[in-house]
Amino acid sequence: MTLRVVASPDWQSRAACRGVTDLFFGPDEPHGQLGRADRERVARARAVCDGCGVWSQCRAFALSQPNALAGVWAGTTQRQRAGIRRQIFALGVVP
Ligand code: SF4
Repeated sequence: MTLRVVASPDWQSRAACRGVTDLFFGPDEPHGQLGRADRERVARARAVCDGCGVWSQCRAFALSQPNALAGVWAGTTQRQRAGIRRQIFALGVVP
């Protein structure tokens, strides 16, 4: 099954995270738990995502990538996206 990329070429120019990307990239938790500082960083990143006007495009893009993206995308961590992708493939749903 192939996931469809629905991101428009310009959606990233309207991202709420422009200029604050340091919040979005750091250690993720693919193999364990984040430390307190990184949990707080991820929480701040998610708060930015909550008000982002291109959240749906970002989520579709992040989930459509064949190789897992690092960092927070559309309020999800790499580990969370891996779980969502497994569910999508299990259901045969195209995001
Ligand atoms: S949803 Fe979050 S990660 Fe995605 S573009 Fe918006 S602010 Fe950035």
